[in-house]
Amino acid sequence: MSNIADVIIVGGGVHGASLAFHLAQRGVKAIVLEKQFIGAGATGRSSGLVRMHYDTEVDSRLAWVSFQYFRNWKEMVGGECGFTRTGFIQLVDKAHTNALKANIKLHQAIGIPSMLVTADDVKRLAPQFTTDDVEVAAYEPESGYAMPSDTANALIGAARARGAQLVQDCTVTGIQVAGGKVTGVETSLGEFSAPIIVNAAGAWADQINKMVGLDLPYNTWRHDTMFVVRPNEIRLSHPTVIDFGNEMYFRPEGGLTLIGLEDGNPLGESPDSDTDHAKKGFVERAIDRLCLRVPAMKNGALHSAHGGYDGITPDQHPMLGPAGPDGFFLDCGYSGTGFKTAPAVGLCMTELILDGAAKTVDISLLRPERFAEGEQVKGNYQNIWH
Ligand SMILES: Cc1cc2nc3c(=O)[nH]c(=O)nc-3n(C[C@H](O)[C@H](O)[C@H](O)COP(=O)(O)OP(=O)(O)OC[C@H]3O[C@@H](n4cnc5c(N)ncnc54)[C@H](O)[C@@H]3O)c2cc1C
Repeated sequence: MSNIADVIIVGGGVHGASLAFHLAQRGVKAIVLEKQFIGAGATGRSSGLVRMHYDTEVDSRLAWVSFQYFRNWKEMVGGECGFTRTGFIQLVDKAHTNALKANIKLHQAIGIPSMLVTADDVKRLAPQFTTDDVEVAAYEPESGYAMPSDTANALIGAARARGAQLVQDCTVTGIQVAGGKVTGVETSLGEFSAPIIVNAAGAWADQINKMVGLDLPYNTWRHDTMFVVRPNEIRLSHPTVIDFGNEMYFRPEGGLTLIGLEDGNPLGESPDSDTDHAKKGFVERAIDRLCLRVPAMKNGALHSAHGGYDGITPDQHPMLGPAGPDGFFLDCGYSGTGFKTAPAVGLCMTELILDGAAKTVDISLLRPERFAEGEQVKGNYQNIWH
């Protein structure tokens, strides 16, 4: 095992894995240091929604570039990402109808397959849904979901096949800086050296930032999810849905439906807290919410429920770019929506690190210093998590 690399990546989630893959494609050797195992953090708990409907251009473009990977995974990466096309419906309350229409226009201009549909269309796409409150919705026929752990494992596997190194059970405990430049890290398994260090530690990223004296507005965000077994009357699948009015999202997986809620996601907890169990009261709230949109779910059965932690920033967008000492980069703060953009972000971060700027998608809006500059990212919808 070598302990010298061109780039050290702290964290083996889908973002650390994607960056290692894209660096390896350019012949750059990365060592990924992961304190547990690939996908142990948010990635392994992610609901895996893959859609392009966002309320900013940068997010939509990152999701669209990433979508080319998800639907051509074998050719572009190799292995499996588990992408399943279900179609995606974005439902909004009446207050957001105009914003939805503007977003669809933006998506269509980018080339994303997205269309404005009516309540009758939604009823045809999903006869089990209540649509009385629906005026219009966005429909993405190509979208769906993927398997986040498989995705991360495929990316790291492809990275390793091209020379990257993965060290698991390896906790980064300190960052070495000399003359204003990073030189390496201290870990539970000894020292590793590289002139570039990337913080891809998800909900733990603030701990890594503090190792180089960075004090950025960064928090932890907890999110519980639940699988229910669909009853016989809706045994057939249904589209993937984000439902603003009922503050939830849900998607199928075989005979199960996965649901998460937009509200009641606590901030500031330790990311090392129990994630094997959902918080008290979550299951009851989620079932009530799901039955509002899909009444037949009242005959469903609880399958399982658990939680996960992601890093969150004040504008609910990631921090991407250099910060602190020379050679230190941030690739973190995905604020609960970072799975689907990981392929494109890994490519863009590689361009930023190696060429000085990302050319595939302009990610300069997401630079870490935007908070100090008072330039937070603003979308057409209000930030969705609360
Ligand atoms: C329950 C849940 C559902 C979600 N659903 C979706 C969804 O449907 N669609 C979507 O796009 N996004 C979703 N997200 C968000 C998405 O999963 C995350 O944004 C994404 O997985 C973040 O990946 P990451 O690589 O940045 O972080 P992580 O996957 O958290 O990886 C960070 C890694 O760093 C490691 N680490 C931490 N500290 C150290 C250290 N000191 N030394 C070494 N390693 C360290 C951790 O062990 C961890 O494995 C969801 C998130 C959660 C929690």
